[in-house]
Amino acid sequence: MNVALITVGDELLAGDTTDTNATWLAAMLNERGATVNRILSLPDDREIITERVSAYSEQFDAVIVTGGIGGTPDDMTMEAVTDAFDRALAPTELTLSDVTDTIAAFAERRPSLDIDIDAEAEAAIPEGSRPLLNNRGLTPGCVLENVYVLPGIPEELEAMFEQVADEFSGERRSQFLYTTEPEANIVETLEETMERFDVTVGCYPDRDAGHNRLKLVGTEQDELEKAADWLLATIDASETPVSRDW
Ligand code: ATP
Repeated sequence: MNVALITVGDELLAGDTTDTNATWLAAMLNERGATVNRILSLPDDREIITERVSAYSEQFDAVIVTGGIGGTPDDMTMEAVTDAFDRALAPTELTLSDVTDTIAAFAERRPSLDIDIDAEAEAAIPEGSRPLLNNRGLTPGCVLENVYVLPGIPEELEAMFEQVADEFSGERRSQFLYTTEPEANIVETLEETMERFDVTVGCYPDRDAGHNRLKLVGTEQDELEKAADWLLATIDASETPVSRDW
């Protein structure tokens, strides 16, 4: 399964917020065997988001969009996804009652806070989409065709992703090996690994840890194991982290 991730927010492009959502989602999807083909951050611009959601929705099996779903004026994502599929934006009975209940519970907990929320606007999702209720916050997400719209606040995103996690899967398998050999000394061996076996090998130096992390990726478990065994026999590598003072 090929998946594209879109994270939305001017604050991401300004460097005010670190895009931990993309990293978290990528790790979750990889764990499930899905392949993440794109990670793209976009500004709070309705037309730009619409254009990318449309394109990625055609190009990939699924698109996950996070951020910009709340009720503030810079929150454009729901509108943009609605435009991408030429739908109308409206609350459903379920999303409206959930948002209304959340607001009531909040008012009960904080009676001194005079908070003015437009429940209908918060509860609005594209017509015909599947609502995803927000167990950790207010604004619902949704699934429209192959596009998943999730919140930007990490705690809310993570809880909502759990509701749809089983819809993501794939054949991608991986294994890490560790070596203290300098990168330059193992280039040919890594190339040969990819020629001999149906795997790709990435080499990721980690200076703090004092090793190079090798990541073998493939779709056949036995091919992955054969490649790892061959590498272990060919260079000074280990299945567990090793370190050297570089
Ligand atoms: P709200 O309903 O509060 O508007 P939202 O779901 O629309 O939330 P945003 O308004 O886009 O989300 O972002 C709210 C906060 O969530 C940001 O200020 C930031 O702290 C965090 N956040 C947003 N996107 C990301 C991201 N990609 N990675 C990590 N944190 C993020």
